[in-house]
Amino acid sequence: MKDIVFATGNRNKLREAREILGGDFNILMPADFGFEEDIPETHETIPENAEEKARFVWDRFHRDCFADDTGLEVDYLNGAPGVYSARYAGEPKNPVENVRKLLAELEGVPFEKRTARFRCDVALVENGKLTLFEGICEGHIALEPMGELGFGYDPVFIPQGMDKTMAMLSLEEKNSVSHRGRAMDKLVCYLKGKAE
Ligand code: IMP
Repeated sequence: MKDIVFATGNRNKLREAREILGGDFNILMPADFGFEEDIPETHETIPENAEEKARFVWDRFHRDCFADDTGLEVDYLNGAPGVYSARYAGEPKNPVENVRKLLAELEGVPFEKRTARFRCDVALVENGKLTLFEGICEGHIALEPMGELGFGYDPVFIPQGMDKTMAMLSLEEKNSVSHRGRAMDKLVCYLKGKAE
């Protein structure tokens, strides 16, 4: 099986990616070859951050790799936290505080006005060449956190057409509707198409 590096330190994301790509590729993290530092993400847009992370790994290790970057866009908050989703409640990154801040900002806002979407860009860098894939998941921000699975904003994000938060979905269920699942499905189609 061909090796491919997922430029992330997030083991939850790795688990999701392995569920989608694991049958066809051996997915490694930089930590698997001794790189434990944070990968920089310094840009103002999601695709640029995804590209930066993938190029960082390509430039250092010269291995084919992909990276993702995700933002949560809440309509009532004019698209915030968006590209700042990871540090919404400030430094250092704290997912519990991010969720708390989001619910505080939406205090008193009725469910029908809590529309939001996750936007995920996956950047693939092969032999230095970039290809981008995007996945979007529409939904609503819940009135309170529900569920124990997943990570980040999953406990407060209810995908369109469902009555559960992402934190109440199995890995397979989350991947079938999620932003990252959709972007990575496109990545798999692309990689498989090339292998044929
Ligand atoms: P990044 O792509 O790791 O920079 O993610 C930005 C922010 O979105 C972080 O706060 C993550 O925890 C959150 N996030 C990324 N992907 C997901 C997801 O699949 N579910 C919930 N939150 C996510």
